[in-house]
Amino acid sequence: MTVEDLRSRHVELLRDRRVVDALTPSTHPNTTRYHTWTQVAAESREARLARLAEVRARPAPYRHGHLHDLQRTLDALQPEVLHLARSAGWTTGTPTLAAVFPTGALDGICVPVPGRGVLVLVNSGFLDLLAGVLKIMTCALPNYGTPPLLSSEQASYALAEAFNAYLYGNGAVEPRVLPELSGQRSALVGLMVRRATQFVVAHEMGHVMAGHLVHSRRWTDPTTPVGALDAQSVGWPREHEADRIAATIMLHSLDDLGPRQLDVHEPCLVGALLLVLFLHEVTDRLAEELGLAVPFAGSHPPPVRRIQALVEHLTVRVRTPRALDLAADVATWLEDQLTHVRDWFDQVDALMAGS
Ligand SMILES: [Zn+2]
Repeated sequence: MTVEDLRSRHVELLRDRRVVDALTPSTHPNTTRYHTWTQVAAESREARLARLAEVRARPAPYRHGHLHDLQRTLDALQPEVLHLARSAGWTTGTPTLAAVFPTGALDGICVPVPGRGVLVLVNSGFLDLLAGVLKIMTCALPNYGTPPLLSSEQASYALAEAFNAYLYGNGAVEPRVLPELSGQRSALVGLMVRRATQFVVAHEMGHVMAGHLVHSRRWTDPTTPVGALDAQSVGWPREHEADRIAATIMLHSLDDLGPRQLDVHEPCLVGALLLVLFLHEVTDRLAEELGLAVPFAGSHPPPVRRIQALVEHLTVRVRTPRALDLAADVATWLEDQLTHVRDWFDQVDALMAGS
């Protein structure tokens, strides 16, 4: 049994669920992008609202090229996670494959494939949201370069687009792509996207390596973008354990760094891990306010409790005094921005109620 078997099972699953027929590179690159920073949110208020409303009104088709690109990201990450796990003393004989899928859930989903291994489904919508939010943050906050590339008003709309796409886009809709970054911002976003995605995969690998799936039961959720989907439910204590395993594995990757490098890398790592749970918390809250279902809600402890537990776990393990500062900045910024995102959502509600 090999990972290639899992790869074909993944494509079968995409095909069965009428997502895409194959994961092939796109011949039509995404054309909805901002080419310069001044273009971001520069249209009239009406045009901006119409674009948000469009996502809600019409389900967009899945693009195989988009999913192909996200799968390539996961393919690059998974060996890193396995390597980090091995060097932290965790191993598994079970073949696993991190596979992109519109699950609608922020957590990865373990799908055991009898006789073959485990598919770890990672939500396409989450991967887009994560990259989008990090990019907007580094362009809006002066800590990452002055002058900021985005005004707070531009950032608010860009964030509204990102959350709107996540909540209403079925894992098919990408928010309008922002211009390429350079220098320090590009390095930071790249690193944090990688770390955060590794954490999601490492959490699921934690379930596999700790033998949690042996004790799991099937949890079927009918509200995912592709209809009913099965996941394995392992209970809240094991969910906390998987968070701890993932954090331990990832912190271990900093062991060989000197003090100066640790000062830079530890806050980024901690920020990336907690960002995953912050986004979980924020998207759950927005979904509840908007009356949207959160697939597999209840299978994991509430994000606030996971954040508390993970912060406690990290606090006694980090090695630099400012390790949690970046995470705190991210949380504060997200919370502040949420008011403006809600404001955009209220305006879309009003628009759609009136039309
Ligand atoms: Zn889990």
